[in-house]
Formats: sequence, C-alpha cells, structure tokens
Amino acid sequence: MTHELHRFGGELHSGRPARAVGQAMWKGAQNRCPSCGEGRLFDGFVKTVDNCAVCGEEIHHHRADDLPAYLVILIVGHFMVSGFLIFSEVFPLSNWQQLAIWVPLTIIAAIVLLRPVKGAVVGLQWALYMHGFGGDDDMIENHPEGE
Ligand SMILES: [Zn+2]
Repeated sequence: MTHELHRFGGELHSGRPARAVGQAMWKGAQNRCPSCGEGRLFDGFVKTVDNCAVCGEEIHHHRADDLPAYLVILIVGHFMVSGFLIFSEVFPLSNWQQLAIWVPLTIIAAIVLLRPVKGAVVGLQWALYMHGFGGDDDMIENHPEGE
C-alpha cells in the first residue's frame, strides 16, 4: 500500500526519468512524436501512428478517447459565446447575419483545434507514463454495469 502511494503523483519515486510534460504536449500539438519531436504523430486526421517512424516510440498506447473532443468543446464554447456576446454589442446585426458568422466559425474552430488538442493529450499521457507508455501492461478496468 505504501509502495503504491509513493508511485502516485510523479516519476521521482518510480526510478523512471521525469519527462517534461509541457514539451511533450507542445510536440504532440504540432503533430510530432512526444519522445523525439521528429516523427509524425498522426497518419490520418486524428488517427495516430502506431510507432514513431523516426525513434520507434510506441504511440499506440495512448487512450485519448473523447478527452480531446471534450476539451475542444470547452475551448471553442468559451471563445464563441464570449465572442458573440461582445461582437453583437458592438455590431448589432440581424439573427441571420449572426448565424452566418458564428456557425461556420464554430465549426472551423472545432475542426482546426481537434488534432492539436489530441496531440497534446497524447503527449501528456506519454510524459506521465500513463497507460502502456511506462512499459507496464495497460490494465483496463471493466465498467461495473458490464458485469
Ligand atoms: Zn519519435
């Protein structure tokens, strides 16, 4: 139990070298391998490579799941709602004109942000040795309702 507590909260107690979280997230956001920063992270729009083509780092361990989409909604929602509220005070346009501006802008922003946000999430998981990135088996917990 004590051993587990020491493992929690950082790599200093596990003997593994600490990885720079911010750097790994930045590399991932730029479609680069979080380990070497050279190889590509994605080989589809949001499909990651299994292994880095340059350093061989295994990328398939990531379990970004729907966190990137959640974060994109959070980010885009805040910018678009506050942007709309400010803009509509300054430029009182009709509802249709507002829709014509904000709906495409929201869709474009979500599409543009999804890949870099997912890359940053993969970089975060890599830097923290989450899931299989630490060389351990990735224990997948069953959902209780699945029993
Ligand atoms: Zn690499």
